[in-house]
Parts: sequence; C-alpha cells; structure tokens
Amino acid sequence: MLEIAEAWKSYPTAEGAVAVLNGASLGLAAGESLALTGESGSGKSTLLHLAGGLDRPDRGEITVGGTALSTLGDAGLAALRRDRIGIVFQQFNLIPSLSVAANLSFQARLAGRHDPEWWRHLASGLGLEGLLHRYPDELSGGQQQRVAIGRALAGRPGLILADEPTGNLDEATGAAVLALMLALVAETGAALLMVTHSERLAARLDRRLHLRAGRLA
Ligand code: ADP
Ligand code: MG
Repeated sequence: MLEIAEAWKSYPTAEGAVAVLNGASLGLAAGESLALTGESGSGKSTLLHLAGGLDRPDRGEITVGGTALSTLGDAGLAALRRDRIGIVFQQFNLIPSLSVAANLSFQARLAGRHDPEWWRHLASGLGLEGLLHRYPDELSGGQQQRVAIGRALAGRPGLILADEPTGNLDEATGAAVLALMLALVAETGAALLMVTHSERLAARLDRRLHLRAGRLA
C-alpha cells in the first residue's frame, strides 16, 4: 500500500541545507501496522508528510496504492490524499467552524465516500455520540484527538498516517485511544503508519522501524 524507496530530503536554512532524510526506505502492506520511532527532530514528521504527498522528496520515490507520487502534479496529489489517505495530525487540525459531526464527515463527503452507517459506527466506537453538536474549541484534547482519528477513518482510506496520535494524551487515555484506533483500522483493512515516541505503544503494532541519521532500520 505504501512504498518509500531511498527518500532524501533536506531543508534550506540560513546556515545552509540541513539533511533530514538520507535514503530512507520502507514498505507497508495493506492491513499491516507499522510504528515509526526516532528521537525528536530525527525526521519522523518529514517522512510522514512525504508519504502523504504533503511534500516531495529531493530524491527517491514514494508509491501509494501502486501510484508513484512523482507522476502526479499538485492537483493529482490532492486528489490522492482525499481519496486514499487518512491523516491524523499531531495538532489535530480540526476545522474550527464545523461541528464534530461535520468534521467527522467533511473529508469523506468531499471524496464522495460518506457512508452514514460507517459514520455512526465510528462516532459510537470513538465515544463521540454525545459531542456531535459541539465545536472543536468546546472539546478536551482527548476528545479532539478522537474526532481527528474518526475524520481520518471516515472515508475508509487504504492508508492511514498518524503523527503521534496519542502524544497529547496522558498514558491511560493514550492507550485507550490507540486501542480504539487499531480496532477501527483493522475493520477497514487499511495500512497504518504511526509515529510514536512510546516504546509501549510501538509494541502494540505489527512492526516497527527506527529513524536514525536519516535512515530506517
Ligand atoms: P520529528 O518529527 O522526528 O521531530 P521533523 O521531521 O519535524 O522531526 O524535523 C526534522 C528536522 O527538520 C528538524 O531538525 C527540524 O527542525 C527540521 N525541519 C522540519 N521542517 C522544516 C522546515 N519546513 N524548514 C526547515 N527545517 C525543517
Ligand atoms: Mg514530529
């Protein structure tokens, strides 16, 4: 579902280019879950952004569901993200002007994949039924995180990318949210790539890779 082949990425800074990824490679099959660990600043979010087509590598190729991202223009990348990828951002990125209900269905509706039955299942599975008419600023961090997970899963994408999805939660809440997310991902048969700094949480996924010096092992 996802293949990253020798991805290189550096960022320009005032002191010159900073190399972040130096030939990072991974493969992730449908239905498989992979934990990505690495120190702060090691490039985990950068790698996730490349996998999600939010940014492009300097060199190397990223393939999602058989489509090489280098063959797509910006509009093609946006359509691929909309139709095939669900992203759970570290800072949630909920739409403040939309209710929980609308945040949960917005992306799936855009993709023409709003399924009311699956939507209700997600809302109840994530314990959001009593919160559907609230707005993001009326939710706790844990509640916002559950909405962000529901939104990523609403269109049943083949690939879920999650950037420290439990990083803002206390240990017990984080473990509970991860369990919910893993159960729902398993139901959709999606591939999951999840960044975490927690060894305990990483151990709950099928595989794990560590990012060090810009490479994965
Ligand atoms: P992680 O998610 O593992 O903490 P990041 O991928 O966010 O790491 O960042 C990796 C490195 O790249 C860091 O040194 C960070 O400062 C740098 N970096 C990330 N994004 C940018 C950017 N847009 N411009 C310049 N440097 C960046
Ligand atoms: Mg990060």
